[in-house]
Amino acid sequence: FKERLDGILEDKETRHSLLGIYQSPQGDSELLEYVAALLNKQYGWNISAKNVAVSNGSQAAFFVLFNLFAGLQSDGSRKRIQLPLAPEYLGYSDSGLSEPFFTATKPTIELLDQKQFKYHVDFAELEVNTDSAALCVSRPTNPTGNVLTDDEIQHLDALARAQDIPLIIDGAYGTPFPNILFEQATPHWNDNTIVVLSLSKLGLPGARTGFVIAREEIIDAYTRANTILNLACGNLGTTLGKSLFADGEILRASQNIVKPYYQDKVEHALRCAEQSLADLPYRIHKPEGAIFLWLWFEGLPISSQTLYQRLKEKGLLVVPGEPFFVGLNEPWQHKNECLRLSYAQPAEVVKQGFELVAAEVKAAFA
Ligand code: PLP
Repeated sequence: FKERLDGILEDKETRHSLLGIYQSPQGDSELLEYVAALLNKQYGWNISAKNVAVSNGSQAAFFVLFNLFAGLQSDGSRKRIQLPLAPEYLGYSDSGLSEPFFTATKPTIELLDQKQFKYHVDFAELEVNTDSAALCVSRPTNPTGNVLTDDEIQHLDALARAQDIPLIIDGAYGTPFPNILFEQATPHWNDNTIVVLSLSKLGLPGARTGFVIAREEIIDAYTRANTILNLACGNLGTTLGKSLFADGEILRASQNIVKPYYQDKVEHALRCAEQSLADLPYRIHKPEGAIFLWLWFEGLPISSQTLYQRLKEKGLLVVPGEPFFVGLNEPWQHKNECLRLSYAQPAEVVKQGFELVAAEVKAAFA
């Protein structure tokens, strides 16, 4: 990134485009072309620059998209963003301009070997109706590392179409970049799907750059809202992005640098878990992507919030599981039995972290 940035600053024209202009509210047209061309080439999608818009980070894109579809409607009714599989990305919560804004469906749990488990969408319970504004899933999922199967995505797509609402797929960790994906998963897009991508997890969270890929009418609406909120997006991600897209470096870096980096980390974290937690009733969500481990301590006698507080006092920062069940208001003991751990820290720190978790959970059960 530094090399590319040095090159941009050396050249008078690119330096000017980094610092001296507003880009159009939809995004720099050359970058939009690059994004469309890359997705068409990689996945055979049939999109053009008119199907792509830039955002100041994908978080800002979700705020606009959610509020475009959900909330108070012109006929006085209210619609909600439906999260077909809880737990989901905590950052969605509180993004609605009115309440109630989200609904979520409790997942089914598949128990796997090696103390792992996997959540699945419970299609028997998922009800998409006239209150639904859009379906939204992160794939891979923050916090669990779950990757919805191709069948699940097809099924959600069919349900969304039947209700004439969009299916939003948050690919912050997915393909083609940053590609922190350890399982085979077919990328999905059609004119009823909105895919949201980000440069953040590639290593550029400071660039605040995301992409919305949707049918033209949605891109137009998004662009109008983006004009009001931002006038234009920042140029760092655009200028650096154009350089990385132009020669395919973005794919090479994702595949050869970012993905193996997290693959090594997750394998180490799983070994640490096995060593430290062996005596405890624990399970780990099968880590299929993203950068977290999701731990489940069945029967945990304290809440995940209390466990978080106690770990924090010992110097370990984790995230309690309960707040990730955005939109799922029904009581469910499982919500209080989970923790999200990041495994991106150095190997020794991760090992110490697991030892602290083990000691604290052991004390709680005792
Ligand atoms: N979606 C998911 C699933 C995330 O985990 C994050 C950030 O952690 C975002 C979206 C927002 O990322 P950004 O605004 O940096 O693109």
